[in-house]
Amino acid sequence: MPASAVSPEVLTRYEPVIGLEVHVQLLTATKAFCGCANRFGAEPNTNICPTCLGLPGALPVLNAKAVEFATLASLALNCEVRERSIFARKNYFYPDLPKGYQISQYDKPLAEHGWIDVSTADGSIKRIGITRLHMEEDAGKSLHEGFPDSATHTYLDLNRCGTPLIEIVSEPDIRTPDEAFEYLTRLKDILLYTGVSDCNMEEGSLRCDANVSVRPRGQEEFGTKAEVKNVNSFKFIRAALEYEIERQVDVIESGGHVVQETRLYNADEGRTYSMRSKEQAHDYRYFPEPDLPPVVLTPEFLAAMKAKLPELPEARRKRMIADYDLTEKDAHTLTVSREFADRFEAAAKTARNPRRVANILLNEVGGRLKALGIHLDQSPVSVAGIVQAADLLDEGKISSKQMKQIFDVCFEKGEDFGPVYEREKPQQITDTAAIEKLIDEVIAANPRQVEQYRAGKKTIAGFFVGQVMRSSKGQAHPALLNDLVVKKLEG
Ligand SMILES: [Zn+2]
Repeated sequence: MPASAVSPEVLTRYEPVIGLEVHVQLLTATKAFCGCANRFGAEPNTNICPTCLGLPGALPVLNAKAVEFATLASLALNCEVRERSIFARKNYFYPDLPKGYQISQYDKPLAEHGWIDVSTADGSIKRIGITRLHMEEDAGKSLHEGFPDSATHTYLDLNRCGTPLIEIVSEPDIRTPDEAFEYLTRLKDILLYTGVSDCNMEEGSLRCDANVSVRPRGQEEFGTKAEVKNVNSFKFIRAALEYEIERQVDVIESGGHVVQETRLYNADEGRTYSMRSKEQAHDYRYFPEPDLPPVVLTPEFLAAMKAKLPELPEARRKRMIADYDLTEKDAHTLTVSREFADRFEAAAKTARNPRRVANILLNEVGGRLKALGIHLDQSPVSVAGIVQAADLLDEGKISSKQMKQIFDVCFEKGEDFGPVYEREKPQQITDTAAIEKLIDEVIAANPRQVEQYRAGKKTIAGFFVGQVMRSSKGQAHPALLNDLVVKKLEG
């Protein structure tokens, strides 16, 4: 993890306090309280009905799948799930919220008291608390750009109204922009593994607001916080926090006061701008949603959700490190997505030596991908191809040098291992007499090494294997060659 870009000198005197609010759209087929399709990218104002538009007389019906997904996410984030939670109306007016209120949860959220472990700059593990996870619905979208008359008009797309969301609020436990970055990375990782959201930030499926303040080291009381809103990548959030910490320290050191406000980050300029001051918390006049009964989760439902929870990224990495003899970094590469990790493990299990599959994937294929700057998912060599290579190597049907040559061709021509192997299958010398003849020549030419072997230096057998491999132009059957070299040297 890179060191924070906030000047170390500032950090010796001031301590940042950061809390994150993350909104995540759930991947349900339909919306939270009506049967409209929950889909990104449809023609504007086509997936709408009286309920999600809040027309008089329309009644919401809770989507069971949304409750399932929200519960799965809560459990994956180590939260305590409430058996009885309450929907509440959060009243405010905004053009893209035609109902005049948002259905959310207030004092009885679905889940509380969770946590995520993150690694910090010094390599230790730090636990970041999760205050709450609640269900709510998304608002529509105001389109301020992209139309000929955008200078004077705002357009509304209400397709997003009623999209099921979970909001995950962290404790103010985060102390550096890097910790914030780590927390978000882990959070996204976990949510992707549970499959409750695609967490696509470009499409707005995952959105993050950050609360940040600074206080002199040693001071118990929090400083005045600013909220940085809707930054659309984790890198930008880190940069926005870095900027904001330095800005607040400057304000304090020049004798001013930080004002409580909402600020927007401009990625091109790398700075935040004041959007509106927030003297007081908004008075949303929350009250229990009269059109929806309390959400009651039975012990059976909770047990079923717990059973449904997949192995989560952190646990999976730990297990894979042991199963495949991996480094921490390699384990991260193989668990980059649940789909890829599943694909790898399913294939590796069929191989004679699963560790060898991991090794070839990470080093031979991984190295070539890295050199080309392409992702594992775009590799011309499939996981099945890697298993085939590993098995051939294990059975001694190809040497590692031949395997490398085949991989070179695969990457050159964009083909999988199987077809290239079939076409360029190395002509192997499996004739014992022919190999023995080559070994005899090498033994005759290297009496000193023979002496060393017979004096007890058994590892020098590798020297003879290498020499014969070279004189056979890499075509001697590797396993046969190994056996024969030992036999000859012993004899
Ligand atoms: Zn609807």
